[in-house]
Amino acid sequence: MNGEWGDAWPDAGSGRHWHEECGVFGAWGCDHAAQLTYYALYALQHRGQESAGIATVDGGEMFHHRGLGLVAEVFGPEDLERLAGKAAVGHVRYSTTGANKLVNAQPMVFDVHGGPLALGHNGNLVNAGVLRRELEDQGSIFQSTSDTEVVAHLIARHRGGSLVDAIVDSLRTVQGAYAFVFLTPDGLVAARDPQGLRPMALGRFGSGWVVASETCAFDTIGAEFVRDIEPGELLVINGGGVQPVRFAEASRKALCTFEYIYFARPDSDIDGRNVHLVRKAMGKRLAEEAPTEADVVIGVPDSSISAAVGYAEAAGIPYEMGLIKNKYIGRTFIQPSQALRERGVRLKLNPVRKVVEGKRVVMVDDSIVRGTTSRRIVQMLRDAGAREVHVRISSPPVRFPCYYGIDTSAREELLAARLSVEEMTRAIGADSLAFLSEDGMLQALGAGPEAAGRGQGGPGDTFCNACFHGRYPTRLYDDLGKHVMEMAAHRGGYS
Ligand code: SF4
Repeated sequence: MNGEWGDAWPDAGSGRHWHEECGVFGAWGCDHAAQLTYYALYALQHRGQESAGIATVDGGEMFHHRGLGLVAEVFGPEDLERLAGKAAVGHVRYSTTGANKLVNAQPMVFDVHGGPLALGHNGNLVNAGVLRRELEDQGSIFQSTSDTEVVAHLIARHRGGSLVDAIVDSLRTVQGAYAFVFLTPDGLVAARDPQGLRPMALGRFGSGWVVASETCAFDTIGAEFVRDIEPGELLVINGGGVQPVRFAEASRKALCTFEYIYFARPDSDIDGRNVHLVRKAMGKRLAEEAPTEADVVIGVPDSSISAAVGYAEAAGIPYEMGLIKNKYIGRTFIQPSQALRERGVRLKLNPVRKVVEGKRVVMVDDSIVRGTTSRRIVQMLRDAGAREVHVRISSPPVRFPCYYGIDTSAREELLAARLSVEEMTRAIGADSLAFLSEDGMLQALGAGPEAAGRGQGGPGDTFCNACFHGRYPTRLYDDLGKHVMEMAAHRGGYS
């Protein structure tokens, strides 16, 4: 869906309440590293639209530029010109923790151990609150409200050993989801959390190296994919090449399934799976699990299109472009008044009347969060003349919030946490409603039942599905830093 969970209904005043997280990129030994990073961030723009930034090193000097807005709004040619050097890190951000202010934009740049350090982070650290309080008690002064700064302070306070030792020790202290890029005059460091909740890959660009949240960034700049970074692995990249360091045992791998369902770009491959093909397989499986008599299948653009095509193929019903999205509604967009909304002003999505009029329509979407958006789309299709609207969701019901960098609604706001499928069907005004089962989703991912995260798990290829069943793959903490045992233990999950 690439951006519309948060802003699908700027004209509705509320709606999907999930947002993407962030995107990170790093380059080492690459000519025009800042320009390269700029284009890579363009490819990762769907992961965050609130701020963008690039830091580079040239000799011992670091340069950086950050700003609020889209990549195209933040950087001009003269900014890129100033960012000298053959090494860079870049970041696009959606603020899951910390307000959308310039101080929270990344990469953050600090002086540590007598030299500059830039860092960019995708994910959310579940123990950042308690670590921050401890650090503040010990005299650390924070510049931002972002959880990412905790890592910079941990690195700065580390005594003895190299900077890589300091990064390793800091990463062993934090818990949660992360893909980190660190840049110093001596090298680029990329790290992925021990559960592999957030994706990150290594690529080759000429004689240099690149890392990115998603492989679509490599395709965009003409880099060659080398491999995914392993959970609990850190890569030190410098003139000597790429040195892997395992800083944590890969316990249970728990890649976020929503990377496949919604967040990532369809042309990206994550941990060996192409996002479009996984979505299509989810749609096929959904058609097998929840068939219906219909004349046409449509998808809610953009992220549900692949699943809709899969559903249509498996069901033998024609796929059509039944909803059109306006992609040009930016951050500074002026929301219409209630009166205009009531007059039917629709800015983001519009049905193709000739496609749906008089038809029995299957509307495939990737998820239901609060239900507001689904209800409005169903109504919109009926207003356009659809005879029946059967809603098919290519993921299981979302019943629990995310603590790993995805901005979800509170549990009580999640429609599926409160209502049965029958009640949800009535709430969104559909003729029928069905969700993909969890087993069906895992099969579409090419994973066996052991991937469901139903036990303590082994080192197998597994996923985080906590927003479906509430079994979180890491410890969780309350605001006071107390380990929230019951969140996992009461649900038979991890503690
Ligand atoms: S809780 Fe859901 S959205 Fe969050 S990391 Fe796990 S699967 Fe992804």
